Amino acid sequence: MTSLQQSFNVPFTYTVSFTNSLFSVTNPVFRTFLNQQVMGKLVRKVLVVIDEGVAQHHPSLANDVRTYLAQSANVILAAEPLVVPGGEAAKNDPKLVDLLVDAVNEYGIDRHSYVIGIGGGAVLDLVGYAAAIAHRGVRHIRIPTTVLSQNDSGVGVKNGVNYRGKKNFVGTFAPPVAVFNDARFLTTLDDRDWRAGIAEAVKVALIKDLSFFEWLETNTDALARRDADAMNYLIYRCADLHMQHISGGDPFEMGSARPLDFGHWAAHKLEYLTNFSVRHGEAVAIGIALDVVYSQLAGRIQEADTERIMHVLQGVGFELFHPALAENNSEHLVRGLAEFQEHLGGELTITLLDALGKGVEVHEMDIALIRQAVAKLEINSLSKAY
Ligand code: NAD
Repeated sequence: MTSLQQSFNVPFTYTVSFTNSLFSVTNPVFRTFLNQQVMGKLVRKVLVVIDEGVAQHHPSLANDVRTYLAQSANVILAAEPLVVPGGEAAKNDPKLVDLLVDAVNEYGIDRHSYVIGIGGGAVLDLVGYAAAIAHRGVRHIRIPTTVLSQNDSGVGVKNGVNYRGKKNFVGTFAPPVAVFNDARFLTTLDDRDWRAGIAEAVKVALIKDLSFFEWLETNTDALARRDADAMNYLIYRCADLHMQHISGGDPFEMGSARPLDFGHWAAHKLEYLTNFSVRHGEAVAIGIALDVVYSQLAGRIQEADTERIMHVLQGVGFELFHPALAENNSEHLVRGLAEFQEHLGGELTITLLDALGKGVEVHEMDIALIRQAVAKLEINSLSKAY
């Protein structure tokens, strides 16, 4: 037998910068980055894609970007910033992928150009995907504008869109070249989107970091009343934990485990079952509540632990039950387990809790116990027990 063997490593490095008013002409952060990226007399093209919700709340943004980039000698705007629908609509319409790939073609964006996405997690997932498949990968820069995208989705390596009724069914692992978290964008979020991203912070604290969970307990009221300093700390801490996890483990998810997806198997299903009327972060809060109660029923954590977690989630304003969980004796919900497994392949791997700050992977879920957990959440939501 004859064979050849191939093996190589490709290092990825990117910085997440925290700033305020990124495209104010006096803010050097983005210009400094461009100067580091583009050496000498080269001029690189930039294609900017803006989330419609962001464009509406920040009407001067396109102009600010234009003015800022006009003062940066080493890049030119390839076209007027494109505006795409925000929210899950961005990931549900395949025509938007075509639109962005066509723009890459039409405006001569090559692999040394940059595609910049400015928006919530959904728009960033769309833009990152289109950038990753055009020319087999154009460099992309993320400018997340929601809590969830600044503390979780925007600082990671995944992107993708929904396909054939399945969430994130097509996508790639494609790290950005840089991420810029601009706190100013958070001021225009509606309360639901301010709150939604807090679920991902509770998630990562519960599976990894008791002291961060204790901080969340202490700061529940501040977060509920939209205290900017508390939120900035939450985003920084949560982004850091996510990034440490990605670099320290399995960044391209080759194995069967997705510990960062604690609470997500039910969340993804719930988003579909409610036709996306429940936001991703809201669904994650319910998914966490379900897996926390399940962990308690399975004898892994104490009732007092459950109460502390529910107190934080309810304290920032999350609902912890949705009728779709119980529909058809939870048959629809339970199908989410198989879909979660299918997405990754390999053995079913679900993260539960063994203690506050300590996740544990299991490979089996007891359907009767899931039903009991759903029933408990329903009763508690009616009686506001937590
Ligand atoms: P979103 O992108 O769905 O946006 C919610 C709404 O907020 C939209 O209407 C949008 O137009 C609007 N918006 C965005 N920024 C705004 C601002 N600054 N001011 C006012 N309105 C603004 O919400 P999200 O929670 O950021 O993202 C959810 C998506 O992220 C889901 O599709 C989820 O699957 C995905 N996600 C991806 C990853 C990943 O690793 N790639 C991880 C977690 C979640």
